[in-house]
Amino acid sequence: MKLQGKVAVITGAGRGIGRAIVKMFALEGANIVINYSKSKKEAFSLADEINNDGRETLVVKADVSKADEVKKMIQKTVTKFGRIDILVNNAGIAIPAAFLDSTEEMWDQTIGVNLKGAYLCSREVAPIMLNQKSGKIINISSISGMAERTAVNNTPYVVSKAGMIGLTRSLAVNLSPHINVNAICPSLIDTDMVEATFTPERKKMSIQEYLLKRIGRPEEIARAALFLASNDSDFITGEILTVAGGKAMR
Ligand code: NAP
Repeated sequence: MKLQGKVAVITGAGRGIGRAIVKMFALEGANIVINYSKSKKEAFSLADEINNDGRETLVVKADVSKADEVKKMIQKTVTKFGRIDILVNNAGIAIPAAFLDSTEEMWDQTIGVNLKGAYLCSREVAPIMLNQKSGKIINISSISGMAERTAVNNTPYVVSKAGMIGLTRSLAVNLSPHINVNAICPSLIDTDMVEATFTPERKKMSIQEYLLKRIGRPEEIARAALFLASNDSDFITGEILTVAGGKAMR
């Protein structure tokens, strides 16, 4: 098991990619803090599932865009587990909004959850990891935060995900040499987010741009997260790992 006895905090863990990461990390022996903001039922049923496999869990409701809620979540984590080995900043929202249609509210919400949320969680967790002289932070960005022309129409989302790449690099520098900070940039992954923002026609058209002629599955991002959370990636920091079926190949 690659994460035996480790403690992992995963934000936005009740659904989608976060849920798949929880399951994969639990299979590899980690105890897990399952964060949710709205999906209470899903978060608790996930905890039941992995408790049955012998892992310990803590389910915490917190809006990652709110500093006080994040602080309390991390305090509860330390009270229960006494340490944090892995933080996955996965919580995210996508409100479809091309630049001219976007509003200040859309901008604030999207940047607040996706970018500020990752900043706030990292800021609370980093001192604990620095104390331990070890830790791994993984930011779930997106190919739309890279120079991927066909994925950049949603302005607030794109900016938030590009910001996560900058955050990753800045934290890698600031938290070296004991903490590894990396990002994953997924392409389209089959979750509620894609269901909500892509029509079936747009999804079909988009698939043509993938060398592998399909979109990804949440478990495929979880596998990349496992690599970055485990000792297999101990000499990797400040990097951006694209998991995109060849869509973003350069
Ligand atoms: P999803 O199925 O819509 O899930 C989003 C998750 O974020 C949910 O668990 C949700 O929890 C959580 N969340 C939203 N607002 C939150 C808040 N304020 N505080 C805490 N948690 C919050 O989306 P997904 O596809 O799994 O996306 C996961 C991450 O991958 C996101 O950062 C997304 O941008 C990124 N990503 C996704 C794709 C894709 O194609 N799916 C591609 C590239 C990157 P609640 O339900 O409890 O609110």
